[in-house]
Amino acid sequence: MKLNQRGLLIVISGPSGVGKGTVREALFEMEGHDLVYSTSMTTRPPREGEIDGKDYYFVSKEEFLERIKNDQFLEYAEFVGNYYGTPKDKIDAQLEQGKEVVLEIEVQGALQVREKVKDAVFIFIAPPNKEALFRRLLRRGTEDPETIDSRMKKAEREFPLAHKYDYIVVNDEVMNAADRIIAIIRAEHAKTERAIYKYREMLEVD
Ligand code: 5GP
Repeated sequence: MKLNQRGLLIVISGPSGVGKGTVREALFEMEGHDLVYSTSMTTRPPREGEIDGKDYYFVSKEEFLERIKNDQFLEYAEFVGNYYGTPKDKIDAQLEQGKEVVLEIEVQGALQVREKVKDAVFIFIAPPNKEALFRRLLRRGTEDPETIDSRMKKAEREFPLAHKYDYIVVNDEVMNAADRIIAIIRAEHAKTERAIYKYREMLEVD
């Protein structure tokens, strides 16, 4: 398969509470793209309304550790007491089929992917300011005060890592953030290193 036909791996990442999940959902509701979401695996218990196999694959810690041992993750991280990871079995096949695969993962995991998949696109979702992040974590109401505090402290350590990403998208309004991501994906497709293959093919045909 020629490089230009391979799909893009798009990594949406950033501190917890920044609204990555909401932005990703908005992105998938938009028309005119062909994105595939890679469902992660976690040892965190499901929150109310979360569906196994859709929101996450919920597994025991034993099963997760076994899968780490068997090298079944593209990346994984321990995040505030639970494991989260990207199962790698489907991703390569989807990219080979030319699909655009989206990961929505925390910062440590994104940096692992950065090392492994050189042509992936890395997008850091940033809050408009720190207060917005704290408010969002509080409003979500799914975590106890101690967990909120750990997530907030972790977020502060993660902000400086934004420079390792290709793009920073401020989540001021969810739809704006999703629009910016679509614009980034379009621009990535138009990059010479990707588009030139098609162009060369055209020249050969003529
Ligand atoms: P939550 O418990 O709020 O669903 O997720 C906690 C954090 O884990 C979020 O920042 C989320 O993006 C991240 N996360 C979800 N799936 C994965 C994954 O497969 N790998 C990594 N490294 N982080 C993930």
